[in-house]
Parts: sequence; C-alpha cells; structure tokens
Amino acid sequence: MTITQEYNEKHHLATKIYAVDILGGQCVMCGQNNIFALEFDHIKPTRQSRRPQLGRSLSRRSAENTAIRIVNGTEDLTNLQVLCGSCHLIKTYYEGNHGNITIRSLNKNPAQEVK
Ligand SMILES: [Zn+2]
Repeated sequence: MTITQEYNEKHHLATKIYAVDILGGQCVMCGQNNIFALEFDHIKPTRQSRRPQLGRSLSRRSAENTAIRIVNGTEDLTNLQVLCGSCHLIKTYYEGNHGNITIRSLNKNPAQEVK
C-alpha cells in the first residue's frame, strides 16, 4: 500500500467514524457499534441508493460519498440511519419484497415470517 493509499484509508475511516457518530453511533436495529460493520442506509431509498440486485450493499465509493455529505451537512439526515451489514441486508430483503418500509416496522426476527 502506498503512502497515498494509506492516507486515503485513514481519512475515509475518520470521516466514517464522524458521520456514524452524527447518526447515533450504532446500528438502529441491533445496537452493533463496530465501525467496520456499520453502513449508511437511506430510510426511503433514493435513486442513488436503489440497488439493482437484492442484498447488495452500497458500493464503497458511494458509501464514502455519503459519509462526506453527512459530515459536510449536505445530506438529508432525516432520511438516513446507521445499520450493521446484517440488518442492512435484512432491510434490503424486505424492501425488495414489501416495498418501502421503515426499520421500526421490522420484526426483530424476520426469519419467522419467511415461510
Ligand atoms: Zn444491526
């Protein structure tokens, strides 16, 4: 890894930590707070955040851009929340099957509902 790459990695991580902290510092569904497990989620999917394949997380570049917009104050925080990777996958699954939902409407154990 070059010095530039290492700098970019550390800069991105610092930006992500700051952005996650602004949004409460943990997964809103399960409380996970390990920074490497956390992702940004648009509560109502935006055109940018809508993903063509079910269960795919945001691309790294898109996640970095979201973190930068949060820190810069140019992102609508009322439509953003922090989810861990697992909860993000679960929410994305439900969105794909039941339309737009909020995380508060999710059953804590959605596997019980999937028959
Ligand atoms: Zn979670």
